[in-house]
Amino acid sequence: MGHSFFMETKNACPVCRAKKFIPRFIKNGYPIERCSSCGFERAVMHESYTKLTDRYYTKGYFTGEKERYAYSNYAGDFSVFKKNFDSVVRLLLHFTRGRTLLDVGCAYGFFMQVAKKHGFDVFGIDVSAHAIREAKEIFGGNVNHGRFDEVIFPPASFDAITMLDVFEHFDDPASSVRRARKLLNRDGILVIETNDTQSLWAKMFGRDWHFYIPPQHLSFFSAANMTMLLEKEGFRVEAIRYSGKWIPLRYALHLARSIRGSKLAESLYHRVRDMWLGRLPLYINFFDHMIVIARKI
Ligand SMILES: [Zn+2]
Repeated sequence: MGHSFFMETKNACPVCRAKKFIPRFIKNGYPIERCSSCGFERAVMHESYTKLTDRYYTKGYFTGEKERYAYSNYAGDFSVFKKNFDSVVRLLLHFTRGRTLLDVGCAYGFFMQVAKKHGFDVFGIDVSAHAIREAKEIFGGNVNHGRFDEVIFPPASFDAITMLDVFEHFDDPASSVRRARKLLNRDGILVIETNDTQSLWAKMFGRDWHFYIPPQHLSFFSAANMTMLLEKEGFRVEAIRYSGKWIPLRYALHLARSIRGSKLAESLYHRVRDMWLGRLPLYINFFDHMIVIARKI
C-alpha cells in the first residue's frame, strides 16, 4: 500500500504484529478497525494521544458532562463504586501477599482508598489533572499526574499494578503492559479490567455496543487476544472473571442518555439526578466485562 517502514511498524497489531486491519464501522467520527489475524480492534485516532487526554479528562468527565459519555457524579457515587472496588481487592488478595500497589488511572483515588483499607501501600497515576488534584487531597505525593509511560518509578517497585476500566483508553496497550512488567516485583500481579469483544453482548449489539465510545475507548480486546498479548509480554494469565458491577441509577441513565441518546433516559435522569433515588445501586452483568489477573514470569 506504499506505507513507509515506520508507518507499517507503528500500525502493526500490538498483539500479533500482523499488518492487515479490516475496517468495521465508524463511531463518533472515528473508524474502528479489526486485526485480520487476532481480532484486536482499535479506533483510528486523528489527534495526538497527549492532546486527547488533555482535552478529554476534564472536570466534566467526572461530573456529568453529556459529551464525555462518562460519570454522572463520580464523587457523589463513591459509596456504590466502593462495592466494585472491594470485590477487586478481595480477588487480588487470592493472588498476592505483597503490599505495594500502583493504580494506573486512579481518578480520585477511590480504589486506592479501598485497597489501603485492606492493608496495601498505595500509589496512583492519572492523565486527568482535575482527578489528581482531588486524589492529592488524600494521598498527597503518592499520586502523580501523567501518562503511564512518562511518570517515573524505580523498577521492581510494586507487588501489584491495577488498570481498572482504563486499558481500553490506551492508544498503545502493549507498551503499557511492558512498562507494568518492568515496575512489578518478581511474581508481581497485573490486574486488567476491560470489556470483551467476543462476548455475546458485544456480538449482539455490534457497532451499538455501549463499549464502542471513541475517543474515550481506543483499544478493544477479547479474552483470547488479551491472553496472547500478556503471554507475549512475559505474563501468565491466572484467572479471567466475568463479574457484574454495581452502578448507581443516575449513572446508568446518564450513559443511556449520552451513549444511546435515549430521550426517556434524558428525562428520567434530570428527575432523579439530585434525589436519593439517583444513587440507588443496580447490579448489572451482561457478561461482557472481564477482570484479567496475570502474573509476571
Ligand atoms: Zn492482531
